[in-house]
Amino acid sequence: MGDTIKIIRTVADLRRQTAKWRGAGKSIALVPTMGALHSGHVSLVKLAKKKADRVVVSIFVNPTQFAAGDDLSRYPRDEAGDVATLASLDADVVWAPSVDDMYPAGFSTSVTAGSAAAELEGACRPGHFGGVATVCCKLFSQVTPDYAIFGEKDFQQLVVLRQMVRDLNLPLTLVAAPTKREKDGLALSSRNRYLSADERAIAPALYGVISELAADVGAGADIPAGIVNARRKLLHAGFAKVDYVDVRDAETLEAPSKTVQGSTQPLRVLAAVWLGTTRLIDNVAVVAKKA
Ligand code: AMP
Repeated sequence: MGDTIKIIRTVADLRRQTAKWRGAGKSIALVPTMGALHSGHVSLVKLAKKKADRVVVSIFVNPTQFAAGDDLSRYPRDEAGDVATLASLDADVVWAPSVDDMYPAGFSTSVTAGSAAAELEGACRPGHFGGVATVCCKLFSQVTPDYAIFGEKDFQQLVVLRQMVRDLNLPLTLVAAPTKREKDGLALSSRNRYLSADERAIAPALYGVISELAADVGAGADIPAGIVNARRKLLHAGFAKVDYVDVRDAETLEAPSKTVQGSTQPLRVLAAVWLGTTRLIDNVAVVAKKA
């Protein structure tokens, strides 16, 4: 295991590195992150190492996916800690461009995210997925990966990016990694560190409630009634606000018919809630019970 790792900060240096790898016939996997790495990110890096010969982990807190009033200025940053973690995992390169390198003066071209971006997070955070799609498109053309690894934790992001890769014929394969959770079910997130002790005690109820909804829907329950019930349970558990809790087609994020009985349509429960000033998102698969 290595205890140092190469940090690259300019596109020109990155291109030199990837050209060397390509010349040697090596495949490349990219793990895009915003840093403040936790075990969820670590699982993505481990998966990347299984997929490709060389692993690039990008650390870039992308300002264009935060709206005014979002948590950009207080988003946690710990480059030294992240670099140590990535070295211990034997990743090959940390790609850490500056904001000026990513968006130089005169930058004015962007990707419009597709239909999967319209609702849920897209409705609550206007412009968010445009920022995500644009920065990922740039990361893909900077790093030229064969694989890019994304967490199911940000499920809508995954669907939006799959749509982008397909629609724009981007020459890479997206790989989804399952959500890593604390023992009590709370999905790991860089934002969990914002939670007070009282909020942290409430937070696992998000996973509990969406898991119950997924089980009910999988057993054939009426979906709109289940959603109303789940919202009520989330508020009762102590979440200050529920941005959404919903059941959607897992591939398109479109609304499904009222029940899944007899249907093989893959469904996903997705939710976003607030605890004080912290917004948490999570999602789980609906597993249809055989009658
Ligand atoms: P972020 O740094 O929050 O932008 O996340 C970078 C990548 O890590 C994204 O693909 C996320 O979906 C993924 N990720 C974040 N949290 C988790 C988690 N708990 N389990 C698995 N992947 C995660």
